[in-house]
Amino acid sequence: MPDICVIGTGPVGATLALALADSGLEVVALDARAQGAILRGDRSLALSHGARLIFDRLGVWTPLAAMPGAVTPITRIDVSQAGGFGTVALDANDVSLPALGYVVSYIALQGALDAALERRRVDVRYGVPVDRVDATPSHARVVPTSGADALAARLAVAADGAGAGLAGIERVRRDYGQVAVIGKVETSTPHGGLAYERFTPDGPIALLPEGGHYAFVWTLAPRRAQELLAMPEDAFVDRFAAGFGRRRSDFVRAWGRRSFPLALEFARPAVARRIVAIGNASQTLHPVAGQGFNVGLRDAWELKRAISASPREAIGTRPMLDAYAARRRPDRWAGIAFTHGLVHLFGTDLPFVRWPRGLGLALLDAIPPLKRTFTRAMLFGA
Ligand SMILES: Cc1cc2nc3c(=O)[nH]c(=O)nc-3n(C[C@H](O)[C@H](O)[C@H](O)COP(=O)(O)OP(=O)(O)OC[C@H]3O[C@@H](n4cnc5c(N)ncnc54)[C@H](O)[C@@H]3O)c2cc1C
Repeated sequence: MPDICVIGTGPVGATLALALADSGLEVVALDARAQGAILRGDRSLALSHGARLIFDRLGVWTPLAAMPGAVTPITRIDVSQAGGFGTVALDANDVSLPALGYVVSYIALQGALDAALERRRVDVRYGVPVDRVDATPSHARVVPTSGADALAARLAVAADGAGAGLAGIERVRRDYGQVAVIGKVETSTPHGGLAYERFTPDGPIALLPEGGHYAFVWTLAPRRAQELLAMPEDAFVDRFAAGFGRRRSDFVRAWGRRSFPLALEFARPAVARRIVAIGNASQTLHPVAGQGFNVGLRDAWELKRAISASPREAIGTRPMLDAYAARRRPDRWAGIAFTHGLVHLFGTDLPFVRWPRGLGLALLDAIPPLKRTFTRAMLFGA
C-alpha cells in the first residue's frame, strides 16, 4: 500500500510530491489533467521570497529562472489609496534581500515542476480525475471517477484546488460579490521591479511587474467588470489610468483581459480521518496582497516536515494530522484574516474610514521596525 496519495499535482500538490521524493516513502500522485496540460489558462502568480526558497531547495528555481521571461523580481512595492493620504513604500533593501518577491507565469512554474517530478521519477498518473475519498481507520481509499480500481494509502492529500468535495471536509464559503479582472498593461517607461497595490473606490488594483509589462488584477463589482471587459482597448486603457489615479498614468496598451469570481473559501478543519487538504483546496483567498498561493505552498512544505518527522505507521493517523493542523493554524488564519480584513477595510469609500486608513498607512511607513515586521510577515508568513 502506498504511504501517500497526492490528489492534484498543481503547483502545491507537485511541491509536496517533489519534497517527498527522497523520503523513502511510497508516494503516488494523481491528476485529472493530461500530461503537459493545465486547467483554466495561464495567470501571473506573485511568489514571496519564502516561496522562492522552497523552490530553490527542490531544485526547481534555477531551471525556472532560466526560462526566458518566466520570472520577474519585485524589488519595491508601493501601497496607496486613491482619494486619500497615506502611502507605504516597501523595499527589498530594507530587509536585506535581493527581491521582495517574484512574478511567475503559472504555465512556466507548472512546466518546471512537472519536469522535476519526471526527473525525480515520482509516480504521477495523469488523466485520473478522483471522484471521492472514503476513509477507514487504517487507510484512505481514493476512488477515481473513471471507475478504475480504487487506490489505498495511509494518507490522502487533497491538493485539487477545489477542495473538500473529495474529502467530506466541511468547506465554508463567503461570496465577495466581486470579480477579479486580470490582464496585462504596458507602460511607456520601464517598471524597474516596482509593484503597486492601489486601493480605489471601485476596488483594489494590483500591478505586478512581468517581463517588459505589468500584469494587473482589478477587483470590481460584476457589472463594472462586464463593462470593462466589453470596452475596446483604447477606452479600457483610459479607464484603467483614470481608475488607477495619480500614482502612475503612463499606460499605453492592454491585452488578455478576462475575469473570475471571488469568494473566500476554507476547509474547517483542513484535516479529517486519513485525509488532509492543502493549497487552494484548504483555503482559497481573495487575490488582494497576493497571499493565497504562498500560504498554500507553506501548507505543502509544513506537511512534508510533519510526514518526515512521523514514524511510517503513524502517517495519516489522527494525532499526526491534528499536530500538523495545529502547526498550520496561525499562518492559515493570519492569511485568511489579513486578506479578508483588507477587503473590508478598503472596500468602503466613506470619508470617516478613509482618514484613519490613511493614518494607518502613514504610520506603517514611518515606523521602520513596524514596517520590517510587516514586510517579513508578508514574505515568510505568520
Ligand atoms: C482563473 C484564475 C486566475 C487566477 N489568477 C491569479 C493571479 O492572477 N494571481 C494569483 O496569485 N493567483 C491567481 N489565482 C489563484 C492561483 O491559481 C492559486 O492560488 C493556485 O493555483 C493554487 O494552487 P493549487 O496547486 O492549490 O491548485 P491548482 O493550481 O488549482 O491545481 C489543482 C490541480 O489539481 C488537479 N485536479 C483538480 N481536480 C481534480 C480531481 N478531481 N482529481 C485529480 N486531480 C484534480 C488539477 O488538474 C490541477 O493540476 C487564480 C486562480 C484562477 C482559477
